[in-house]
Parts: sequence; structure tokens; C-alpha cells
Amino acid sequence: MKDIIIIGGGIAGLTAGMYTKRAGLDTILFEKMYPGGQAATTDMIDNYPGFDEAVSGPEFAMKMESHARKFGLEIVYEEITGLELNGKVKKVITENKVYESKAIILAMGANARKLGIDREDEFRGRGVSYCATCDGAFYKNKDVAVVGGGDTAAEDALFLSQYVNKVYLIHRRDTLRATKILADKVLANEKIEKVWDSTVDDILGEDQVNGTRLTNLKTGEKREIKVDGLFVAIGITPHSKLVKGVVNMNEAGYVLANEKMETNIPGVFVAGDLREKPLLQLVTAAADGAVSAYTAQKYIIEAFEE
Ligand code: NAP
Repeated sequence: MKDIIIIGGGIAGLTAGMYTKRAGLDTILFEKMYPGGQAATTDMIDNYPGFDEAVSGPEFAMKMESHARKFGLEIVYEEITGLELNGKVKKVITENKVYESKAIILAMGANARKLGIDREDEFRGRGVSYCATCDGAFYKNKDVAVVGGGDTAAEDALFLSQYVNKVYLIHRRDTLRATKILADKVLANEKIEKVWDSTVDDILGEDQVNGTRLTNLKTGEKREIKVDGLFVAIGITPHSKLVKGVVNMNEAGYVLANEKMETNIPGVFVAGDLREKPLLQLVTAAADGAVSAYTAQKYIIEAFEE
């Protein structure tokens, strides 16, 4: 039996793994895709303390993984298919094996939210993208649209403006939610046409996106714009399906925990963007990871060793 199993290899999970390994706990971390989570698909990170020269998301992700491995963290790239969390011994099920541990840290993070309109899934990878840094290079000298008004949409629009001919930034209100430093850059960028008070109703095209139909929410006016790419950046939804109905969560699916990262189930902790909290950032996810590791360590001593 392992001491701790961590689920998710973003910054929260990797930080938790570093801390548990440094505390001498036998730990295994499961990640289904790649290390770094959402940070790995971010263009540049310039608000992580210590990195005064902006660092690329993929580079930051690789650094985090190698840092965690330096402390001996075992990372397994495999999808978890089931969890049994209610007993004293926790069970983590993959396609091939059942793993047991004394404690679990949930760090599954969050996924990009979808618009939920017709043909969105059909056009995914054929003009519809949820990751500008991954797919932006395909749109050199073309016209694209970004939907959203938060930090992600602002960063995506700025990133794409370096390569494409024109970016339409489509937002359902007339002010950006993005932090001022990003919003000011977007507003000053002449390559970015701001389309305020508007929603995307339809995606146009045969096999490939060639446009989108918008509605102005104030005037009701409909408009079609020609674009080859539609980048959806309207926020994230927590990746909490695995623990739905087991661990307490809010209506949006974010897991509820106290400041020690304890969930309602003894021995089950949560860290990072999966947790309900006011600020989803790399620094807060890292902090959650450290706290969850510390509390899990104390829990193991109390529950298994005293
Ligand atoms: P967000 O802050 O939740 O913003 C989502 C945006 O999409 C909002 O402007 C929202 O409009 C709009 N939106 C939501 N649902 C929509 C829908 N169905 N149709 C059209 N528009 C919709 O999400 P985010 O930008 O992905 O950021 C998530 C978190 O990560 C935030 O905490 C953010 O600060 C953080 N983040 C930080 C950085 C950074 O610091 N460099 C970079 C990226 C993300 P309303 O404004 O009207 O609600």
C-alpha cells in the first residue's frame, strides 16, 4: 500500500508530490495526458515569483516535472477509471490495476468550457480550438476569432495577433474581465477588433470553419464574419466527474474544502483549480499542493501510526 496517491499532474499535484516525497512518504502520482496541466498549454507565464523573464508554459511544465522527479516522485501516465474513497484504505482503479493508499490528493484541475452550440464538437480540430498556444501556428496570416473576456481570452488574442492577419475578440459584455495589464494591451492592439455585447450563435463552413454568425445582444443585430479559426476561451469547468456524488462540491462542480485542503471524507484532500476558491492561479495551485501534502502527512500519522 502507498502512503499517498495524487491524481493529476498539474502544478497542484506536482507540488504536492514534491512535498510528500521530501517528507519521506511513499507517493505515486497519476496523470492521464501530459505534465503541467493548463500551464503546459499557456503561451507565456510572467506572474510566477522568481521568473522575472517570462517563461513559456511548456518549458515551465517540464521544469516542474523534472523538479518533482528529482525528489523521487513516481509519475504514472495512466487514466484513473474509478475511485473508492470511503474506506480507511483508499482504492484507485486504472484499466489494469487497483492501487491502494492511506490518503488521496485530488488535483485533477479543470478543462476548457465549451460554447455549447451546434457543430462545435464536429468542428473541433477543424477550426475550433480551445488552446491558442497549441494551434495558433496553423493560422498564420489568416483571420481568426477569440471568444471570451477573461485573462485567457485576452492572452489568446494577444498571442494570436503576433501571427495572424486579424483577430476578432468577441465578448458578451462591453468590458473585459481580464486583469488590467492584459486588458490594456488588448485595447491598444490595432490588430484586435473588439466585438462587444455579442455572442456566437453558429459556426459556418463545410468541412472546415470559414466563418461565424454573431448576435449583438443590445441591438439584436445579426452579423456574419469570415474567420478560419474560432478560439473558445470562456473559462473552465472543474474536472470533478470522478468524485461526483462522493465528495462535497458546489453547483458548478468545484470541490469544497477547508483551508487545510480537507474534503468531507477523512483522508481525501483537494488541491488546485479543482477546489472552490476565489483565485485560480499557478501560485494558489502550488500553495494548495503544499498545504494538502502537509495535512495528508499529519492525517497519515494520526490515522495509521498512533
Ligand atoms: P474567466 O475568468 O472565468 O472568464 C471567462 C470569460 O468568458 C468571461 O469574460 C465570461 O464573460 C465569458 N464567458 C463565460 N461563459 C460564456 C459563454 N457561455 N458565452 C460567452 N462568453 C462566456 O476564465 P479564464 O479567462 O479562462 O480564466 C480562468 C482563471 O484562470 C481565472 O482565475 C484567471 O484569472 C486565470 N488565468 C490567469 C492568467 C494569468 O494570470 N496570466 C491567464 C489565464 C487564466 P463575463 O465576463 O460576462 O462573465
